[in-house]
Amino acid sequence: MPDYGHPLRFGTFITPAAAQPQNVVALAQHTERAGLDLVTFQDHPYQPAFLDTLTLLTWVSAQTERVHVSANVHSVPLRPPAVLAKAAASLDLLSGGRFELGLGAGAFWDAIEGLGAPRRTAGQAVTALSEAIDVIRSLWATDERRPLKYQGTYYSLNGAKRGPAPGTRIPIALGAYKPRMLRLVGEKADGWLPSQGYLGPGALQEGNATIDAAAVDAGRDPREIRRMLNVSPPQSGDAASWIGELVSLAAEDGVSTFILAADDARLIQIFGEQVAPAVREAVADERRDRGTVAGTVRPAAALALRREGIDYDAVPEGVEAIEPGDASFPRVRSNYLRGGNPGLVLRPRDTAGVVEALAFARRQPVPLGIRSGGHGVSGRSTNDGGIVLDLTHLDGIEVLDEATRRIRVGAGARWGEVAAVLDRYGWALSSGDYGGVGVGGLATTGGIGWLVREHGLTIDHLRALEVVLADGRVARASETEEQDLFWGMRGAGANFGIATSFQFEVDEVGPVGWAQLVQAPSDLAEYLQRWGEVVSGSPRDLTANLIIGRSSGQTVATVMALVDSDDPDTILARLQPIADLAPLVDSSVQVTAYAAVMGNASNEPHQGQGEPLTRSVLVDALTPEVAELSRQLVESGTSRFFQVRSVGGAVADVPPDATAYGHRSAGFSIVAFGSDAARLDGYWSRLRALGSGLYLSFETSRDPALLEQAFGAGNLERLRELKRRYDPENVFDGNFPIDAGAATLSA
Ligand SMILES: Cc1cc2nc3c(=O)[nH]c(=O)nc-3n(C[C@H](O)[C@H](O)[C@H](O)COP(=O)(O)OP(=O)(O)OC[C@H]3O[C@@H](n4cnc5c(N)ncnc54)[C@H](O)[C@@H]3O)c2cc1C
Repeated sequence: MPDYGHPLRFGTFITPAAAQPQNVVALAQHTERAGLDLVTFQDHPYQPAFLDTLTLLTWVSAQTERVHVSANVHSVPLRPPAVLAKAAASLDLLSGGRFELGLGAGAFWDAIEGLGAPRRTAGQAVTALSEAIDVIRSLWATDERRPLKYQGTYYSLNGAKRGPAPGTRIPIALGAYKPRMLRLVGEKADGWLPSQGYLGPGALQEGNATIDAAAVDAGRDPREIRRMLNVSPPQSGDAASWIGELVSLAAEDGVSTFILAADDARLIQIFGEQVAPAVREAVADERRDRGTVAGTVRPAAALALRREGIDYDAVPEGVEAIEPGDASFPRVRSNYLRGGNPGLVLRPRDTAGVVEALAFARRQPVPLGIRSGGHGVSGRSTNDGGIVLDLTHLDGIEVLDEATRRIRVGAGARWGEVAAVLDRYGWALSSGDYGGVGVGGLATTGGIGWLVREHGLTIDHLRALEVVLADGRVARASETEEQDLFWGMRGAGANFGIATSFQFEVDEVGPVGWAQLVQAPSDLAEYLQRWGEVVSGSPRDLTANLIIGRSSGQTVATVMALVDSDDPDTILARLQPIADLAPLVDSSVQVTAYAAVMGNASNEPHQGQGEPLTRSVLVDALTPEVAELSRQLVESGTSRFFQVRSVGGAVADVPPDATAYGHRSAGFSIVAFGSDAARLDGYWSRLRALGSGLYLSFETSRDPALLEQAFGAGNLERLRELKRRYDPENVFDGNFPIDAGAATLSA
């Protein structure tokens, strides 16, 4: 040191002159065209000749594509930190991660007071700035769910809602000259941003020393702090001496961001096209000669969050890696229903990346979760302290052959997106009831969807898939290749590998009837039994779900039904027998697209917390015994969400041993969410005795005795043999793992 090894950056410092606003923007765009990295503006809100800096930064980031933007620096006394945090996060999100935060303690106190902010001494201003940094970072920390209560000397917040969270980690640089401010840089900031004109001889060395010592005292690595400098154009205009001066500042004083204070387009061009490349080259040579370790240093605070057992330095290059402490970690840690706190989330971009990520993950002695859409119920695709291999980037949806309606879908796509693409062709693929569910999880277990009675399960449309196996081999499975694997992947797929893409044959589906009927049955058991008879006696173009809840002591049944027809008479003919079962409280019926029915999910990051508790059973019919037990369960208040879905129809056209999903006789799937396992199981053990199995995707119990119910005894034996062949070490253990070794299961 002091070359701290940061990649070199070059930027401009443009006067935000209100008299020529378009010229200011043009110079910013010129900065980008000249190949520079950063555009900055001073922030003096009391200065009437200047544009407002935050507004200007917003405008400029919208008018540019690549350059980062920052204040140089914000007058914190005039920018309430809680609001500044939100503005900064918003600009980060809107600009695609191009916003940086430059902060100053404040100067020109008469003017600050003139604008209504309190006057502070130098010491008070530094303390206030330190508090402001804490407030800003705390409001960005959305993985902390409790509202922010902060009691400082200068700022206090009483229950502020956090967020929005920036998409990237916004660096905070401080404009600092005096020892107290320099120490604050060392303690908390990501960058030091003084102006060369205000620094006397030796001030950079002294400043660096103060910052480095404060950083070490705070348990940080001094290399975490980027040294930035506002520089003026050379008096001589001689590019060679200019280059020499900047190389010396980089090599001797550790400066790695040079910001040219000039409103001159010609100078900016020279800076970008001649000076910056020459300085970069000379500094790279210098670093090679000196053996300087170059690169960005991970902050000590983030390093402290790393988890045991993961060799973070060996993460394969080219695979996106997100770890605790990264700005995007809160968006990827949890699932839709389940909270998680993994040590590392790996997001490969293609099949080769999946192979690499899996090989890496296998070398780490920590849990491994495989995640496609993060809607796992039984599937535990996030964890605590382990690795999540996340297939989000493998989300392609393409039509392979229009004549045969053959499509290929990546595991990371979601069913709402698939439906939207297929809609353009007049096609649909029965998948599930919720557009946010991922392709990978659902298409490896079954897929009970809105067209299930007419078109069968999702897996019944699967013609081929690509799978990364535990040993890293990439297999293609179909009726003619790896037939056993193809059989097993259709129902127990999570046990054998990571499916990266699926080929489906989809159906022609036009506009459909979509209905929601809310009913108030007086005798729930009788209603359920008759509902089951009506639905299973209906033509296959009807598929219906029923959610039963309690409201003010009254049982409320919400029916959601799809009729694959756009003929109003047909739609009403299917719905009327259901509507006649109990008084209607509310109803809506419309003719719409299947894609619109599946357009029911948001793209918000998952925020699941805790562990869901669900139980599943598949029954051939809603017999009086099943209906009565269901009534008792619902009326006891044991379940807050009780759902009955129609299956049957085309599902039963496929023999039970044709796929690993073996429950072809089931007419209905019943699922309950609860909060008290013992209470729920009190009812469920009796319901299970009346059923023919369970749909593993709706079951959170980990009792190995349920494997037989999940797959059927005959299928389970074959699956055990496949597990021994394809995953003998049980690498894939996140979703109804099959015990490969034992003939009978042990707990
Ligand atoms: C709101 C909601 C609605 C649902 N509706 C339906 C429905 O209508 N019909 C229905 O059938 N199911 C439904 N489900 C259940 C859903 O199909 C399963 O939970 C499914 O596993 C979710 O898939 P995912 O990719 O989103 O889940 P993830 O959480 O990403 O994965 C769940 C598990 O699947 C396995 N897995 C994931 N990706 C792969 C892969 N590429 N290769 C191999 N294994 C993989 C892993 O073991 C993982 O733990 C619903 C779930 C939710 C939360």
